[in-house]
Amino acid sequence: MQCYYLVVGGGPAGATVARILAREGREVVLLERDLKGSKPCGGGIPSTAFTELEIPLQIPHRQVQSLRIVSPSGRNLRIDLEGGSLITVRREDLDRYLRELSTREGAEVLEGTLLDLERGKGEVTSTVILNNGRRINIKSRYLIGADGVNSRVRRLLGLGPVRSVYTISTRVAHPDGESCEFWFGNHHARRFYSWVFPSVGFLSVGTGTMTPREAGLLLKRFLQKRGLHPLNALKRGYRIPIWQEGPLVVDRILLVGDAAGQVMPFTYEGLYYAMTSAVLAAEALIKERPSLYTRLWRKRFYSRFRFMGLLAERFLKRDSSIERLFDIFQRPPVQKASMRLWLHKDHTRGALLSYINLFRKMLI
Ligand SMILES: Cc1cc2nc3c(=O)[nH]c(=O)nc-3n(C[C@H](O)[C@H](O)[C@H](O)COP(=O)(O)OP(=O)(O)OC[C@H]3O[C@@H](n4cnc5c(N)ncnc54)[C@H](O)[C@@H]3O)c2cc1C
Repeated sequence: MQCYYLVVGGGPAGATVARILAREGREVVLLERDLKGSKPCGGGIPSTAFTELEIPLQIPHRQVQSLRIVSPSGRNLRIDLEGGSLITVRREDLDRYLRELSTREGAEVLEGTLLDLERGKGEVTSTVILNNGRRINIKSRYLIGADGVNSRVRRLLGLGPVRSVYTISTRVAHPDGESCEFWFGNHHARRFYSWVFPSVGFLSVGTGTMTPREAGLLLKRFLQKRGLHPLNALKRGYRIPIWQEGPLVVDRILLVGDAAGQVMPFTYEGLYYAMTSAVLAAEALIKERPSLYTRLWRKRFYSRFRFMGLLAERFLKRDSSIERLFDIFQRPPVQKASMRLWLHKDHTRGALLSYINLFRKMLI
């Protein structure tokens, strides 16, 4: 089998890159190992992202208008979202819908798993096992690795694994939650937070930590503290990348989304960044200049990721420093500047600089 672009992984990053490339009229194959799967995920995306990425919001969703932030000592902060909202979706709906948008543009979706790849002159040959048991080779001019935090593409390129934190999450029956909640404190989350997100028919509840061993205990503590009872016994563990700079392009192979570690430090927001990296990768590929992708990504995101990485490093380790951060966060100018970056996705340099200035004194 032959195609111009082979996209490995049909999550938000892969489906987005396939949609944009297919729109250009070139042959795109989108390979996904499990078309019915559902990744554990809070499914929270700022509403502004749907407009920016030209994704019509035609799937079941909740529109959340406020955030609740709770400090380790139990202090509460409520932030009403203005000029936008946080949309929560079920991942199974989102991924299916994004793949459907890509097929409407002409992408071909195959259900199967990438096993191996070989880089040749002017092409990449991928060995794939289809879910019907057939093994095939796919020759493509370019390959896009959008296969998530455990990326096989990454491994086959000889790049190290993505650094990550562990999360454990579950669904709780309680359809009426009205705020997205972020609870901080080492009692139930380590270098991360515990969350409660109202979703479509349930609450997504989870927590994060550095080692999988203590994850179950931390979730139990958080559920008790928050007074919640899981809908069923199903608790799912999954890793989230900790961003660090690394190669995004190797010859004719590009890495996008979690496979490239592109999750915003501190907030651990990955969906928006997976989809926007996909847009930048597609832009570079359409121009037949794969290396342009790295430059586009760095120009748009590098400073932000680096700054948020510093904040996470400086403040997320100890409860005392989280309390200090909470103090800063209670100031309206800080909230306003954060919303400009996070909710409104203001990409101007001014937005980032005003944010950095608010924290500068504390970081020196
Ligand atoms: C518990 C949890 C909660 C989260 N909550 C949020 C949130 O509320 N908001 C937010 O913005 N982010 C959240 N994230 C992060 C977000 O889920 C990821 O950043 C996002 O899914 C990345 O998208 P992706 O397309 O890069 O990778 P993925 O969504 O992981 O998709 C990769 C795809 O590749 C497929 N695949 C893997 N290997 C192969 C192979 N060899 N062959 C073929 N297919 C393959 C997989 O089946 C999968 O469909 C959360 C993450 C976790 C773990």
